[in-house]
Amino acid sequence: TARIPYIGRFAPSPTGPLHIGSLVAAMASYLDAKAHQGQWLVRIEDVDVGRNVAGADEHILASLQRCGMHWDGDVTWQTQRYPLYQQAMEQLGDLVYPCGCSRREIADSQLNLSGQQAQALIYPGICRDGLAPGKVGRALRLKVPQTPHCVLSFEDRWAGHYSQDLTADVGDFVLHRADGYWAYQLAVVVDDGAQGITDIVRGADLLDSTPRQLYLQQALGLPQPTYLHVPVVVNDVGEKLSKQTGAQAFDTGADPQVLLRDAMLPAARFLGLDIQAETIDAFWRAATPAWAQLLQTLPRQP
Ligand code: GLU
Repeated sequence: TARIPYIGRFAPSPTGPLHIGSLVAAMASYLDAKAHQGQWLVRIEDVDVGRNVAGADEHILASLQRCGMHWDGDVTWQTQRYPLYQQAMEQLGDLVYPCGCSRREIADSQLNLSGQQAQALIYPGICRDGLAPGKVGRALRLKVPQTPHCVLSFEDRWAGHYSQDLTADVGDFVLHRADGYWAYQLAVVVDDGAQGITDIVRGADLLDSTPRQLYLQQALGLPQPTYLHVPVVVNDVGEKLSKQTGAQAFDTGADPQVLLRDAMLPAARFLGLDIQAETIDAFWRAATPAWAQLLQTLPRQP
């Protein structure tokens, strides 16, 4: 199944050490790249500077190495790529507008519109045609077409057909945040484009971000990669595993046997790969064809 060129990536946010949930995403993207004889890049998504944990990036990279996941080329850090994001913003031109609304104001406007608290904050377009009087521009938003509604669909390699009404379910979204940082949605699209990423493999928590990213790709004239969203590991009460929900980091200092038994084999099992291996090398030798075989059973339509 060689597909040249195939360029995949793992794009962790350095908010803590790798845990079993993020290992699953790393493993899936690595295996998919290997199964296609492609390249695998690593990009540290540190744009949300307030959430970064000092040293977490190096810790994640060391864990990947210890697990035998070696990346191609140089690791990139999003905080070193601001000029690219600025350039993209200029390219978007009039599609972008300054917004001076607080979360509170947006929430209140939704309360008035629907009589009940909406689930996600959908921006009602208050500043769309110019900052409301007395407001100071804080964030920059991207206009989403209103009529007709902008409905975007794609075929996810794991989850199958996915469609979202961007106008009704998301609205004009933020590209540059009120706190001064670039938003994930812009940075990820610009970087995937600049790095020539052809295939995105990541956790299903990002499935509903994908239509926003497709829209941005179109607005920037970037090619659309393929997507494969793997299920996310959840804790006992159904929350996505993260540092905030009490995910345990696996010790990168552990010996390879322990790493295999406590982290890699469980992560593979979670993906549906039944691997027998005594060493890390043997693990990858077995896991790559097993992944190729698993691909034959996709998509998993509900
Ligand atoms: N940085 C994101 C995360 O850690 C992943 C972004 C992506 O894969 O598109 O959840």
